[in-house]
Amino acid sequence: MKITDLKCAIIGGSAVIRITTDEGIDGLGQGETPKPYLKPMVMFYRDMIIGKDPTDVERVMLGIRRMGAFKPWGTAVSAIEMALWDIAGKALGVPVYKLLGGKVRDKVQVYNGNIRFEMNGNEPEDYAEEIRKEINAPQGFSIIKQAVGFHDGWAGKVDNFYYGTPETLRRHPNRGTITRKGFNHLMACIEAMLEVCGDDVALALDCGPGMTVPDALKLARALEGENIMWLEDMITGDYTPYVLADLYKQVTPYTTTPIHTGEQIYLRQNFVELIETSAVNILGPDPADVGGLAEMKFIAEYADLHGIMFAPHGRFDGLIGLAAHVQLAASLPDNYIAFELPNGDPDWWYDITEGISADIVKDSHIEVWDRPGLGITFIEDEAKNYLSEEDADFFEA
Ligand SMILES: [Mg+2]
Repeated sequence: MKITDLKCAIIGGSAVIRITTDEGIDGLGQGETPKPYLKPMVMFYRDMIIGKDPTDVERVMLGIRRMGAFKPWGTAVSAIEMALWDIAGKALGVPVYKLLGGKVRDKVQVYNGNIRFEMNGNEPEDYAEEIRKEINAPQGFSIIKQAVGFHDGWAGKVDNFYYGTPETLRRHPNRGTITRKGFNHLMACIEAMLEVCGDDVALALDCGPGMTVPDALKLARALEGENIMWLEDMITGDYTPYVLADLYKQVTPYTTTPIHTGEQIYLRQNFVELIETSAVNILGPDPADVGGLAEMKFIAEYADLHGIMFAPHGRFDGLIGLAAHVQLAASLPDNYIAFELPNGDPDWWYDITEGISADIVKDSHIEVWDRPGLGITFIEDEAKNYLSEEDADFFEA
């Protein structure tokens, strides 16, 4: 089998890729929803994969993997890898999890970091109300992750949160020492959310990046005994184009609160120091950023050997990304906790695809399906209505 084309269309904000072959089998992949600007980056790889056998996934990846980088520049490589597994699975008539080593669980746990509601403000009662709504969501989430502090834009909206000059321009990071007032506010909001969670729902917190080492340790220790699920990306993370494992090593060994990072990191090599020095307790790479599903599987296995847990990032990965997460999670070792549930965004994604319904999550779990490949396909006649003129030939061979 040979790859005949690589196509990319922007569908509802996501770069969706389609790889075609000389045997009529195609494969799908998807980048994070708010990244329509990645289309030229996807097409950059076209000439590097045409003519290759898509079922030799690793051989194709060896040709393009070095031409990627940390989030968001690893997305194209990752989405291509997903599509190759989709083709390989369809060609062999097996679900992708079989090709990743087979499933070790029949249903996979998900967590919520995605379904959010409009908040009235940034006071403890606003956060408590938000958590209450998320707990009542029909998915029955067992773990809820809330953004606080730098991750929730507090530099620009909570008075005197930190010692620095807040930059509110979109995507501009803020970093610095948190004030006593800011720290007390952070604790008050977290306590209010914990009270709503009770014993049935675990609370994880996405905190940065931008916190200093002493503030990160102070927060982690102040929350000891509260059974926080994890503190995410306090120091680096999100869109930080480097790791700085050494900074996490000054926090993680000195607290019982689990420390989490990894969503922006590209490739297994960039996890070596984090894993081998136990710089964090939980890793959360994103299959649509890290380099793909096999890349995730390798990192999870290596983390497991070092006693590090695994909770993949995924909130913007869309429905094709969701299909990929399910296949991967089915095959991960016992250090797997849950992946961050993406959804069809906009809602009409559920009408233009077949395989994943809007009510697929029951009691915070998704049943692993056995359809060949990733197990999600387009209903082309419906999907065509959402293609721009430029992408009109997306479904043509
Ligand atoms: Mg995060």
